[in-house]
Amino acid sequence: MAFDLLSMFPEELSALCVDLGQPKYRGKQIFEGLYKGVRDINEFSSLPKQFREKLGESAFIPTAKIRRKLVSAIDGTVKYLYELHDGETVESVFMRYHHGNTMCISTQVGCRMGCAFCASTKAGLVRSLAPSEMLLQIIEAERDLGERVSNIVLMGMGEPLDNYDNVMKFLRLVNHESGLNIGLRHISLSTCGLVDKIDKLSDEGLPVTLSISLHAPNDAIRRQTMPIANKWSIKELLDACRRYIDKTGRRISFEYALIDGVNDTKDHANELGRLLSGMLCHVNLIPVNPIKEKNFKRSEKNTIKVFTETVETYKISATVRRRLGSDINASCGQLRAEENENK
Ligand code: SAH
Repeated sequence: MAFDLLSMFPEELSALCVDLGQPKYRGKQIFEGLYKGVRDINEFSSLPKQFREKLGESAFIPTAKIRRKLVSAIDGTVKYLYELHDGETVESVFMRYHHGNTMCISTQVGCRMGCAFCASTKAGLVRSLAPSEMLLQIIEAERDLGERVSNIVLMGMGEPLDNYDNVMKFLRLVNHESGLNIGLRHISLSTCGLVDKIDKLSDEGLPVTLSISLHAPNDAIRRQTMPIANKWSIKELLDACRRYIDKTGRRISFEYALIDGVNDTKDHANELGRLLSGMLCHVNLIPVNPIKEKNFKRSEKNTIKVFTETVETYKISATVRRRLGSDINASCGQLRAEENENK
């Protein structure tokens, strides 16, 4: 298999160069060239021509072409549909917040978690993304917009912890000081709750923010919308979260999509409050985004207000997520599904 240069650390590139009969420092030259925008091995002007040819026989630089770009007229949010080297597509969203530009990126083409309200999982998992393909979603948006990204959320298509090794490598690469140099504290990783992987993550020493897609105050409701709830109970999930907090000292964020008539009553809010009370956490309430395949409805304004205030009585901070890019279907998975239907 050919080496994907953009998925490699400088040390790995150096080892490859030595294998090909070159000095070690060539590795650093390649790494830096990649982040200066080199997208073709022949463009590495600092490398001898003969070596470029040899390198081209065993290595490649992956690409992500902008296939579609939608710009919100309301808030300037930009949504990209990228085409990868094998023709598969993924979505990413660029958002401007007061605390900096934030990019929401995908970690897989499709997803196999099967959550009922989510557009990304409708056609199952096609494949996982390489670290380079996660980096490219950011690099190409920065290049297209001429703006820097300072925050990343792994909340696009796919389940990050179902692509564990590549996501860990991506996090270390994106944080590299000679690369994009984005602080790990400015990165959120969102998971539907793979308990064994949460435990693994707590030993990585990576100070990212962990977000848990909870979406229900008890197992019975969670099983209605999230198949993963059949594998692990909420108790098992929250125990893993407590171990994560103990080990890392970091606050966890819980995502809770409010679905009309499913999980949004005052009783549900009380149940959620009791569940999370005393935990170092924050609750993010998201009025569900209706998707074509299912008739889930967002909760009424007043219902959301009552829910939020009820959760807060348990001394838990709760906020309702601001909706960006509502005119461009900014929730991930919808654009790719639309493209696939049109084919
Ligand atoms: N697989 C990961 C990350 C991707 S989804 C996870 O499950 O966390 C990012 C967030 O968007 C998750 O909390 C997910 O449950 C939520 N989400 C998916 N579809 C949604 C919809 N239609 N409305 C509101 N939130 C949704």
